[in-house]
Amino acid sequence: MNIAIIGSGIGGLASAIRLSNKGHQVVVYEKNSTAGGKIAEIKEHSYRFDTGPSLFTLPHLLEDLFAENGENLKDYLPYELLDNNCKYFFPDGMEFNFYHDKEKLKVEIESKTIEKYEHIQKRLLESEELYTISAPVFLFNDFHKLSNFNTPPFRNIVFKLHKLNFTKTMHEANQKSFNDKRLVQLFDRYATYNGSDPYKAPATLNMIAHLENNIGAFFPKNGMYAIVQSLYELALKKRVEFRFNSLVTEIVVENKKATGIRVNDKIHLYDTIVSDVDAKYLANNMLNHPLKKRLNNAVPSSSAMIFYWGIKKEFHNLDVHNILFSNRYRDEFTHIFKSKTIIDDPTVYIFISSKVVPSDAPQGSENWFVMINVPADCGQNWDKLISDARKNIITKINKALNTDIEQYIDFERIGSPLTIEKNTLSYGGALYGTASNSMFSAFLRHPNLLSSIKNLYFVGGSVHPGGGIPLCVASSEIVCKEISSVVIEN
Ligand code: FAD
Repeated sequence: MNIAIIGSGIGGLASAIRLSNKGHQVVVYEKNSTAGGKIAEIKEHSYRFDTGPSLFTLPHLLEDLFAENGENLKDYLPYELLDNNCKYFFPDGMEFNFYHDKEKLKVEIESKTIEKYEHIQKRLLESEELYTISAPVFLFNDFHKLSNFNTPPFRNIVFKLHKLNFTKTMHEANQKSFNDKRLVQLFDRYATYNGSDPYKAPATLNMIAHLENNIGAFFPKNGMYAIVQSLYELALKKRVEFRFNSLVTEIVVENKKATGIRVNDKIHLYDTIVSDVDAKYLANNMLNHPLKKRLNNAVPSSSAMIFYWGIKKEFHNLDVHNILFSNRYRDEFTHIFKSKTIIDDPTVYIFISSKVVPSDAPQGSENWFVMINVPADCGQNWDKLISDARKNIITKINKALNTDIEQYIDFERIGSPLTIEKNTLSYGGALYGTASNSMFSAFLRHPNLLSSIKNLYFVGGSVHPGGGIPLCVASSEIVCKEISSVVIEN
């Protein structure tokens, strides 16, 4: 079959490789001049910054993709397990390292918190169980296809539904698990990994803690953009054709079948079309379909404001991933999702890839990616929000690290919902499509295919099973399976 893929984000790249490996002719149309979408980089003033994702989890999903193609991921993408998943700075001055090594973690818990280590162990086992029960159904299968409900993973889950804790919120479940409020806050934070609010998202999403803390936080030896480079290299080897600087403006549908795409006012015909475009953007700009109403009514996931700072100093007290927690965590989410603005005491995330990749910053310097969660764009005054947030972030960093950070900033770029939207066409700059702030929105995301339009499939972070690198790779597997089943039926 001739297949067009719209977008070269991680979902588009993984789909292109999988489909071309099945013998299809695959062409990827990308509006930008390079591949990767939200996974991108800035190289300036002797600094290199990953501009989007910083945390690499579930690398085995990429290993499987490379193995399917007779290749070894590590030959393309050497990566390592981080010793410290994340370093946390709490408002009361406590500094906490979430070590991967369980013995080191036990010492950290017992020396710094009022929690019993057994509570952490129990909670991590519960997160693992949530993942083990739900992943085969909710993450690695097409949840919207009725015929799947009669397959073993779906039949097995029926007797374990009570264990999935749908009816509680993440925060309620975490409050029950821990005596130390700081650990409740730490575990609540995993809601932000898919752009959601822990005070609303179902406790089933507490499975996210399993990925980072049991399996591990990984990091590519050459930085996050190396993930894209490895996939692009493999795609070229599989003879995938890339057409960069090619904005697709319409998906052409005739008699309820997608038949082609419009690029530069010219229609190109294809047997099958796979969209890696943000679903809400697509529904509003490229396709006439009733799903538009549902997408426009859904709560968008959070977006991000990022300061890429070249810092002329090394901070030995910081690790690769660092969190400076807000003192008003519940308020922070009310600001993001209700008032659609930014609290004056935001949780600040500092990611420093030069801790692992020394060439990412000049000697004696570090490349800081300083991010806060913010609402998706709905017309706010971003110049003012950026200027206020910058001041608040600097105050918070100075207090937590006992420094005067402004004097060390020798390079600055700023990312916001507006730049994320411009660069990747994600509606409002939402990082993960819709938020998972309810059971319904968490598990019934935009489907990977529609019964009303044949030959059209959806991958990427705004559709099922969800956002983030691993789930985008999972979406490519679901879509490839669906396309292969159509080929067999015909
Ligand atoms: P996208 O990355 O959204 O790319 C879509 C591509 O399609 C773009 O290249 C775009 O230019 C192109 N395109 C769109 N419309 C058209 C069109 N009409 N014609 C042609 N081309 C088009 N994930 C993690 O796993 N870990 C993290 O730590 C993490 N942190 C993040 C931090 C930030 C700041 C951001 C922005 C994201 C983060 N994510 C993280 C999320 C992760 O980056 C995304 O879920 C994932 O990369 C999305 O991939 P995608 O396949 O949906 O495509």
